[in-house]
Amino acid sequence: MMKTELIFLGPPASGKGTQTSRLSKESSLPHVDTGSMLRAEVAAQSEEGLLAKSFMEKGQLVPAELVAKIIIKKLKSDECKNGFILDGFPRSIEQAEILDKALEEIDGNNEVKRLVINIDVNQELLLERIINRRSCKSCGKIFNLKTMPPIKEGICDACGGELVQRSDDKEETARSRFNTYNTETQPLIEFYTKKGWLVNVDGSRAVDTIYAEIKDIIG
Ligand code: AMP
Repeated sequence: MMKTELIFLGPPASGKGTQTSRLSKESSLPHVDTGSMLRAEVAAQSEEGLLAKSFMEKGQLVPAELVAKIIIKKLKSDECKNGFILDGFPRSIEQAEILDKALEEIDGNNEVKRLVINIDVNQELLLERIINRRSCKSCGKIFNLKTMPPIKEGICDACGGELVQRSDDKEETARSRFNTYNTETQPLIEFYTKKGWLVNVDGSRAVDTIYAEIKDIIG
């Protein structure tokens, strides 16, 4: 089986997390989500977590070398030997260049299937989506109070865990995350288009429709 390397791009709350979690479950490729990995470091009060916390609270990118250290260890691990689904990394040209170098080293001359899937959505819709977003404290499943509410208020349908709002989903921090996306992450669209790896997906449609298209693209 050829190694499959999928990189997802898209603004905050574009649906990347929903799509990549599902894809991971159904494909057995690991979901490598830097935001969740960093939140786990913060919760564990590790050295990395303590460093990352202040950037995350402001909606800014944590320093590239810190994220790179966490992510490259993961990509080199046995868990990722058949491929991976990257969600939230890279988020800047600097990080994309770090990733390129790491993958060159990891994959050598082996043939891999590598795709960058860009979830394209109108940002005006997204701020509201963020403010209404809740996630399960136990299993991470994502809900939306307006469009994807849980059956029982405050409780996860999947595992019965408690639903919480991420602290950086409050309006002010959310706004600054969009600024960060537009200045630092958006340039990756051109970067990956030039490499011929980028595929755009219209993220304004229903979750299932988007998922079906992603599956088609991956083949
Ligand atoms: P997310 O869950 O993907 O929205 O990420 C939450 C926060 O974690 C971001 O606002 C950043 O502060 C930080 N973060 C996640 N991924 C990265 C990354 N690749 N580079 C730098 N910071 C990141």
